[in-house]
Amino acid sequence: MPASSLDQLVSLCKRRGFIFPGSEIYGGLANTWDYGPLGVELKNRVKREWWKTFVHKRGDMVGVDAAILMNPKVWEASGHVTSFSDPLIECKECHYRTRADKMMEEWVYFKEDGNYESFFTRLIRGIQPLLKVPQKAPLKGKQKITIPLKLSFKLKDDDREIKTDSLNITYDFDLNAIDKRALIHHFFQEILRFNCPNCGKTNWTEPKQFNLMFRTQQGVIEGEGNDIYLRPETAQGIFVNFRNILDTMRPRLPFGVAQIGKAFRNEITPGNFTFRTREFEQMEIEYFVEPGKEKEIFEEWKELVWNWYLSLGIEKKNLRIREHDKEELSHYSSRTIDIEYQFPWGWGELFGLANRGDFDLKQHEKFSGEDLTYTDPDDATKKFLPHVVEPSFGCDRTVLTFLLEAYTEEDAPTASGGSEKRVVMKFDPRLAPVDVAILPLSKKEHLIAKAQELYKKIIQETDLVVDFDVTGSIGKRYRRQDEIGTPRCITVDFGTLGEDDKQGTRDTVTIRDRDTLKQERVAIGGITEKLQ
Ligand code: ATP
Repeated sequence: MPASSLDQLVSLCKRRGFIFPGSEIYGGLANTWDYGPLGVELKNRVKREWWKTFVHKRGDMVGVDAAILMNPKVWEASGHVTSFSDPLIECKECHYRTRADKMMEEWVYFKEDGNYESFFTRLIRGIQPLLKVPQKAPLKGKQKITIPLKLSFKLKDDDREIKTDSLNITYDFDLNAIDKRALIHHFFQEILRFNCPNCGKTNWTEPKQFNLMFRTQQGVIEGEGNDIYLRPETAQGIFVNFRNILDTMRPRLPFGVAQIGKAFRNEITPGNFTFRTREFEQMEIEYFVEPGKEKEIFEEWKELVWNWYLSLGIEKKNLRIREHDKEELSHYSSRTIDIEYQFPWGWGELFGLANRGDFDLKQHEKFSGEDLTYTDPDDATKKFLPHVVEPSFGCDRTVLTFLLEAYTEEDAPTASGGSEKRVVMKFDPRLAPVDVAILPLSKKEHLIAKAQELYKKIIQETDLVVDFDVTGSIGKRYRRQDEIGTPRCITVDFGTLGEDDKQGTRDTVTIRDRDTLKQERVAIGGITEKLQ
């Protein structure tokens, strides 16, 4: 049962050391977050599981760890310098800033049969038939067309309904491709008629294209020529190393290259905890295939990723696949799907899968002048640019999803026969930040010594992460371990020392299961095997 509100989770994360607000002692820095002692363990485990599944267990994958700072030409070739921008509008009254396109995506068209569809789908549906109407002169290239459209919109999760009288769009259509960006830009004039969601007034600035790449300077002399960017995605670090990987690893198609690393985007509207931040981590794969094979491979990756999320405990009902409309596709992609998760504020993208064709390799060949062709090892005359299927995971969003999914409030029986509410993080044991906690029943010195002996034995003989906790009552300590999601707690008590009335308890301990709360008496002798 995922957390029903984000606040519950944010507070648990702070209280228990998963995620802290960034630079907190200086009053913070908006929308920055620091992973604390347990958060970093959880995140590392997510990355470890990912690398194990998608790199080590496959045999057709290698990894790289490229530099964050890259030659600025990379971003010219990739298209980021010209088109990695979002349209920014600002309320002149209250200075609320927002992305005009997001605002539009939030609008849901209200169809008569009670269904909703996105503004875009509706718009494109409205426009397409008009494009097909026979014209006196054949339509070629750019055309000015006026389209009267009457639409009524609803805002997502909002009862307000917005009616437009009649939108007369006169727009230069490039009939070969409807340019989503240009179309949105046209529509901004309409958006500007709506109220600011913050102050309710209607006084917006004109939309400005705002490039999301963070700029910085390299070297000691400020000024022209030294400007570089922090990478906005990890993908390009893979493409620029393609030749090196071919030459050193001699991989055969199909094969993939994986990378985990930080990316930076100067997002206009960061928020929702770690969902959208300006600095975040991605886990990306570029999977290279023979041209023509990408459709089939695309389907394979879709299945693999979907199942990976399920295998680590995400409930099916909280996941869905969203296919991008043709009009919505990025310049490099011929097909994109997102896997979305049902966050407390609604569905949001967790993962994207794109068919990038040979766009990137072609661009890098053009801009670098280097030969990036692959040579068929069985037929040296066959040289070509492989096509690319790109599975792209947000690492922080994936961690957030596991946190939300693990959060559980339930009634648990108490020792006295009653019941009490407990919060428990039901992580898959492969992800839990702590594997085992050792809890001496009391603060008696010889009990602590015995428990410490066991602690040392387990950390020396296994790879498990072990917590040792003596602070507070045993009940309080169990509650803490539940809240951090420790699958097993080991209690060392007077029986362990042979000091209670029961027979045969010497050198045995109690293991408590996080989910079932069952307690089992186990001999210390075989404990490491049992835990593993
Ligand atoms: P969005 O539409 O949410 O801005 P996007 O489509 O731009 O995302 P991609 O460029 O496909 O995202 O990036 C791949 C993945 O990286 C996303 O699926 C998401 O999980 C993650 N990601 C992208 N932007 C951010 C961000 N600002 N903060 C955290 N994670 C992000």
